[in-house]
Amino acid sequence: MNTKYVFVSGGVASSLGKGIIAASLAKLLQSRGLRVTIQKFDPYINIDPGTLNPYEHGECYVTDDGAETDLDLGHYERFLGVHTSKANNVTTGKIYHTVISKEREGAYLGKTVQIVPHITDEIKRRMLLLGKTGKYDIVITEIGGTVGDMESQPFVEAVRQLQWELPEEDLTTIHLTLVPYLRAAKELKTKPTQHSVQMLQQAGVHPDIIVCRTEQPLSPELRRKVALFCNVRAGHVIQSIDAWSIYQVPLNMKEEGLDEMVLEHLGMKNVPAPKLDDWCDFLNRLQNPKSEVNIALVGKYVELQDAYKSILESFVHAGAANECKVNVHSIHSEYVDASNVEEKLAGMDGILVAPGFGERGIEGKILAVRYAREHNVPFFGICLGMQMAVVEFARDVLGYKDAISTEMNPATSAPVIDLMEDQKSTTIKGGTMRLGAYACYLQKGSLAEKIYGDNLISERHRHRYEFNNAYLEEMEAAGMKATGKNPDTGLVEIVEIPAHPFFIGVQFHPELKSTPINPQPVFVGFIKAAKEFKASRA
Ligand code: GLN
Repeated sequence: MNTKYVFVSGGVASSLGKGIIAASLAKLLQSRGLRVTIQKFDPYINIDPGTLNPYEHGECYVTDDGAETDLDLGHYERFLGVHTSKANNVTTGKIYHTVISKEREGAYLGKTVQIVPHITDEIKRRMLLLGKTGKYDIVITEIGGTVGDMESQPFVEAVRQLQWELPEEDLTTIHLTLVPYLRAAKELKTKPTQHSVQMLQQAGVHPDIIVCRTEQPLSPELRRKVALFCNVRAGHVIQSIDAWSIYQVPLNMKEEGLDEMVLEHLGMKNVPAPKLDDWCDFLNRLQNPKSEVNIALVGKYVELQDAYKSILESFVHAGAANECKVNVHSIHSEYVDASNVEEKLAGMDGILVAPGFGERGIEGKILAVRYAREHNVPFFGICLGMQMAVVEFARDVLGYKDAISTEMNPATSAPVIDLMEDQKSTTIKGGTMRLGAYACYLQKGSLAEKIYGDNLISERHRHRYEFNNAYLEEMEAAGMKATGKNPDTGLVEIVEIPAHPFFIGVQFHPELKSTPINPQPVFVGFIKAAKEFKASRA
């Protein structure tokens, strides 16, 4: 059987949750025994989001093979439980980079290089690339941006061409729109959807299925109206109503028959019914917690939900695993100081200090670590959060008052966190951090080993600075142990304070591998410790 392709575009507004719809469809198809992957095509000119500020683009998600990608890839992995790769996120920047490099090499000698056919050919090549590996029955492609945007036109044009180039049964298109509810008129409005579909059709792409995001249920008449005006089969207009959790959306889509419709369009018959027992189990636990904890998330991008997306999702998974509701309190590290740290953190059952870059908010993070260490509050530091745990210990326990990372002060007299050796010669900023999966060896008897139930793990990274091993002996003698190391380089990946009930800092990003079905062990252990801490205070 040929690999089949599903394209998901969006209209009317951004942030409608195209990624969640694509991931939900993928989940349903996967649960029927099909091999599915999802890729995202982003219409911006950056090669990848690695150089973007989280305020611009939310979190930068990192894959095992070290690609810095769009955060939707995080949803894909969380829903499917399979790893994505460099090939799963393509930007306009990557497309142009390839075409322009080929032009310089002389690949188009004598020809004028144009959007059609050269750019669209490269887009099509990449759209079909994962399908050509033979590893997938279905490849779902999410087209970033909103139909009608100047930026996404070449992607839509590529889909138009593929509609003719691929056998009809190998490709189907889904368009996601918004049906707003006008409170004053007490009415759902379909006009924006009609206009959005018209725009898509003017570009030559005919949607097979329309998914309407809505706050209110869509009546059968309204669905018929959309079908009529938008020229799709009656019944192939479905609703995606606001859900209590993103993880409920696959079940809502099943209810609406999205997977059935897609299989019908793709001419796939006799596909087994979806098996979602473990997913439903997870949802059940999520919906019926037996306890609750309050966790402080100390970071500087807290105004923006998407900046710590994977961390927040990891708490959802770890909460369900513990049958515990996790209330995450965002605490802006820039506004934490000695006079208010107590007041901000006193009610917390656990403190997580977030990853980050640069100097802003750093002293607040250090104060939060100190509070957790001194008050025996479960502590979990990630990347920069781990580095600040090391700094705090060096300052307060070893007495290096000036200790800091050389990222913040290259002239410090106590560079307990320092630039990695191989970073010293790097001047280029894009894609040059220590990225992707590395092995980590866990010390026998450590908290980390207990949490993972294993001695050798693999986690993903995104950093330039590291624990300075010149201070290792002194740190360990004073009570902060390096319990996880890279087996090849000796780089410190985990620090712990064994005298504290739960104090762990990790150089890697464990949040990138947590899924509902396989919640990340450090998060699960942290929530368990928070529950115990809360009980001990009661
Ligand atoms: N800024 C730190 C580094 O580059 C930490 C990075 C992070 O938290 N992802 O090492």
